[in-house]
Amino acid sequence: MTELKTELKTFDMYINGEWTASSSGEYFPSYNPATGEAWARVAKGTAEDVNRAVQAAHQAFVNSEWTNMTYTERGKLVRKLGDLIAENVEELAQYETIDNGKLIREMRGQLNYLPEFFYYYAGLADKIHGHTLPLDKQDMFAFTTREPLGVVAAITPWNSPLYLTTLKLAPALVAGNTIVIKPSEMTSASLLELMKLVEEAGFPPGVVNVVTGFGLPVGDTLTAHPLVRRVAFTGGAESARHVVRNTAENFAQLSLELGGKSPNIVFEDADPDNAAMGIIAGIFGATGQSCVAGSRAFLHVDIYDKVMERLVDRVSNIMIGDPLSDTTEMGPLATEEQLKRVEKYVKLGKEEGGKIIIGGKKPEHLEKGWYFEPTIFEHTDNNARITREEIFGPVLSVIPFKNEAEVIEMANSTDYALAAGIWASDIAKAHRVAKAIRAGIVWVNTYRSISPIAPIGGSGLSGYGRESGFDAIYEYTQSKVVWVNT
Ligand code: NAD
Repeated sequence: MTELKTELKTFDMYINGEWTASSSGEYFPSYNPATGEAWARVAKGTAEDVNRAVQAAHQAFVNSEWTNMTYTERGKLVRKLGDLIAENVEELAQYETIDNGKLIREMRGQLNYLPEFFYYYAGLADKIHGHTLPLDKQDMFAFTTREPLGVVAAITPWNSPLYLTTLKLAPALVAGNTIVIKPSEMTSASLLELMKLVEEAGFPPGVVNVVTGFGLPVGDTLTAHPLVRRVAFTGGAESARHVVRNTAENFAQLSLELGGKSPNIVFEDADPDNAAMGIIAGIFGATGQSCVAGSRAFLHVDIYDKVMERLVDRVSNIMIGDPLSDTTEMGPLATEEQLKRVEKYVKLGKEEGGKIIIGGKKPEHLEKGWYFEPTIFEHTDNNARITREEIFGPVLSVIPFKNEAEVIEMANSTDYALAAGIWASDIAKAHRVAKAIRAGIVWVNTYRSISPIAPIGGSGLSGYGRESGFDAIYEYTQSKVVWVNT
C-alpha cells in the first residue's frame, strides 16, 4: 500500500447515495501538477466496489422511484443540478485547477457555461417521444416510444473531468438511465465534489454512482459487467480497445470519444489576426491537452509569413505559471507522464528535421511542477511522425501549402478524424473544404466553440458515437414499437 501523509485531503467514493471507502480500505495519491506534490488521497476502488455500484444502479433502474418518475420530474432534477453547479462555480473550479492544473480562469468560464448543458437536456426531458407509424395495413395501428437502456458506465480521462462527465451524465439521466462513473485516477477530486451537489439536488440513491481507482481493476470490471447496457468512454485508443473487447462479451452499446490530430487550415484570403488567435487558442488552451487541440496549422504560402509572425509574437508573450493566478495564460501539463511524452515528441520532431521556431523546453523560471513552453515547429512537408500522431501537449506543427487539393489531402492524412478549422473569406471555398475534410466537427473562422446544442464526436482513430446535442438522446435511448390489431 502506498504510504500517504495523513494531512492529505481525503476523497471517498459515492455509491448508492452514500460516501464510502474502498472495500480494501486503500487510498492512492492525487497530485497537484503546479507543484508535482501529492495534495489528496482518493479511495482505491476494487472489483467488489464496482459490483456494489452496478448493483445499486441496477436496483435504482428496476421499478424504483427513479423509473416511476415522469420525464418532467426527471428534467426538474437535472435542472436543479445545473442550478447548484452555477452556485458552486468557484469551489468546483478550485478543485479542478488544483487537481488537473487547468487555469482557474478557464475553469470559471467553463463552469459558468456548464449549467447550460444541464438546462438544455432538462428542457428535452419531456420531448423524448416516439411516433405513430403510417402503416401500409388497414387494420393495424403502430407507434414507437423511446426507452432508457438501463445502467450506463461512464469512463472519463483526466484532461477535462467535469465537462466530459457532464456530456454523459446530463443526457443519460434525462433519458431515465442510471449511471456509474469512473473518473481518471489522475483527477477524481472535482467529480467527487460534484457528487455532493447530486446528493443535494435529491436524486434517489443509486441513480448516480462514482467508483474511483485505476483502469485495472475498476474500469475493466465496470465495462465487462453484464448489467451495464451502455458504456460511454472518453480516453486513449489503447484503453478503448480493451473496452471494446469487454463490451463485445455482453453486447453492451458503446461510444468512443478518443484522440485527434486536428488541422487548422488558413487560406490566403483569411484574416491573419483572427486566424493566428484561433490557432493559438486551439492548441495552447488547456496546455494542448484537449481532444480537439488544433495541433497542425496548414498555412497557405501567400499568407504564411504574416500568420507565422503573429503566432510567434503572441506565443512569446504567453504568461506561463501558477494556474491559480488570474493573470496566468498557460498552466502545467496535468501529469508527469504527459510532460515526458511531450519532451519525447519534441526530441523526435527535431530528429525528424522539424525546426523549432519558439519554445521546445521546460521554462527556466519554473523548476517545480510539470510545465513546458508553448512550442512551434516548422515543417517543410507533412511526413513527420509529430505531424501525424497525437501529442496532447502545447506543441504546434506549422506546414505550408500551395492549393486547396493539396491541403485537403494533407489534412486528411492522419488516422484521426475529430475536428478541423478553416480560415477563409471565400465562404464557398470554406464550405467545399468543410465537406471534403474527414472530421466530426468543422469550425469556419472560429475554433473550439462549444454548445450543448451541437454534437461532438469523430470517426476512425477518433472513435465513434456522438455526445452533446440531440444526438446524445438517441445514444441513451432505444425505440420500442407497439403494434395493435384493430
Ligand atoms: P486513458 O485511456 O489512459 O484513460 C481514460 C480512462 O480509461 C481513465 O479513466 C482510465 O482509468 C480508464 N482505463 C484505462 N484502462 C482501462 C481499461 N483497461 N478498461 C477500462 N477503463 C480503462 O486516457 P487518458 O490518458 O486519461 O486521456 C487522454 C486521451 O483522451 C487522449 O487520447 C485524448 O485525446 C482523449 N480525449 C478524447 C476526448 C474526446 O471527446 N474525443 C476528450 C478528451 C480526451
